[in-house]
Amino acid sequence: MLEKTMPKKIIATASLAGCFGCHMSLLDIDERILELIELVEFNKSPIDDIKTFTKECDIGLIEGGCCNDENVHNLIEFRKHCKVLVALGECAIMGGLPSLRNTIPLKECLDEAYLNGPTVADCNEQKIIPHDPDLPKILNRIYPCHEVVKIDYFLPGCPPRADLIWDALVALVTGAELKLEYSTFKFD
Ligand code: SF4
Repeated sequence: MLEKTMPKKIIATASLAGCFGCHMSLLDIDERILELIELVEFNKSPIDDIKTFTKECDIGLIEGGCCNDENVHNLIEFRKHCKVLVALGECAIMGGLPSLRNTIPLKECLDEAYLNGPTVADCNEQKIIPHDPDLPKILNRIYPCHEVVKIDYFLPGCPPRADLIWDALVALVTGAELKLEYSTFKFD
């Protein structure tokens, strides 16, 4: 059982260009989440659905890289409001699966997604590629988080295992040393 810290550390989390799998892995710490909420308070996060920062945060966990200008804006806001920023999972660290499009010109991706792909050709008769000004602007490629803001720590995995997330959070909250064994992020 962890000893309580006073005051509680404040955590914010976000999913940018990710699949929410890293957040699912965070929830996979199972009953330890009861220990966690004794030690921390969640602020802006999909976990509590708080949409805007209401406090300055000790720890920010970022899932996903940046695929559009809204992701970039959110990431910069996290950097401003979080003392420590953690890139959680391969999408945040390297771009992950979404970055498979990085070798293909953006126009070609959009044409395939909205005009030429076998599942869309028949249902987009007007040949429209969405361009409403309220939609986030898609970037020319996926940018991993460290290419946009300074990242303090990287937690590898797709997603990082729940035990790794737990160990990292305990280390960040208590100041204990975190040892990353090779087996922690060797997947085969
Ligand atoms: Fe999903 Fe894996 Fe990316 Fe996490 S690292 S957001 S689990 S694809």
